[in-house]
Amino acid sequence: MSRLDGKTALITGSARGIGRAFAEAYVREGARVAIADIDIERARATADEIGSSAIAVRMDVTDQASIDAAVAATADAFGGIDILINNAAIFTAAPIVEIERADYARTFDINVAGTLFTMQAVARHMIERAQGGKIINMASQAGRRGEPLVAVYCATKAAVISLTQSAGLNLIQHGINVNAIAPGVVDGEHWDGVDAFFAKYEGKAPGQKKKEVGEAVPYGRMGRAEDLTGMAVFLASSEADYIVAQCYNVDGGQWMS
Ligand code: NAD
Repeated sequence: MSRLDGKTALITGSARGIGRAFAEAYVREGARVAIADIDIERARATADEIGSSAIAVRMDVTDQASIDAAVAATADAFGGIDILINNAAIFTAAPIVEIERADYARTFDINVAGTLFTMQAVARHMIERAQGGKIINMASQAGRRGEPLVAVYCATKAAVISLTQSAGLNLIQHGINVNAIAPGVVDGEHWDGVDAFFAKYEGKAPGQKKKEVGEAVPYGRMGRAEDLTGMAVFLASSEADYIVAQCYNVDGGQWMS
């Protein structure tokens, strides 16, 4: 028997990257998944590639009506939601003296308000259904310490860790476990923008920052989305029933270095 047999999951931002790897791993473990993303074309292509256990759902985590519609569509399609991964986020970076209020607001809206209000909508559904559930929020090493050029993103991920702690303590009375995963640097399309930013601000050649970051990881390379799936499956499974309000590093040793 697979560890998520019969379970259903809504995964935000899963059209690509880490969220997609989570969706694939959950399906391998017997779950059905909603690929919920603002990029609906990519979400459809991803769901098609994953197969009949996946559906694509349009979802903008900054829009309450869109959150509610995505939760309702997933619950209707699958008969309920057992697992939520709040994975959608954007990365923004700038020196402190160049941070613009609009970028700050947008980053917090997606990364923090998006996480909170998706968690709220799914928690309401889970409480009404009275079968408990598992919620996993995507934090980051960036939420555990500052980075000189990444203040706003770091602050959003610190907020995600804090929200996980409070929501975890509040929702466990309903049998809903809320926990978080804090990856270190993970390779993927997201790095295209990151690399371009550091090329501009630190005068690095294309690809140089990524190479340096990977070499600094104690494990010896950057993370891959697949490195995170074991923790995501574990936290969604009944093996994690007694784990409440925690944030786990899956980072090749970066937090300790
Ligand atoms: P990514 O940029 O590759 O994918 C993010 C997805 O979110 C995209 O499919 C995008 O369309 C979607 N999205 C963006 N805005 C949205 C919105 N408003 N509503 C719904 N969907 C939206 O990201 P990734 O690198 O796979 O990262 C996934 C998660 O892991 C994020 O929470 C990120 O902060 C976290 N993380 C990533 C890294 C890394 O190095 N890649 C490190 C630590 C933590």
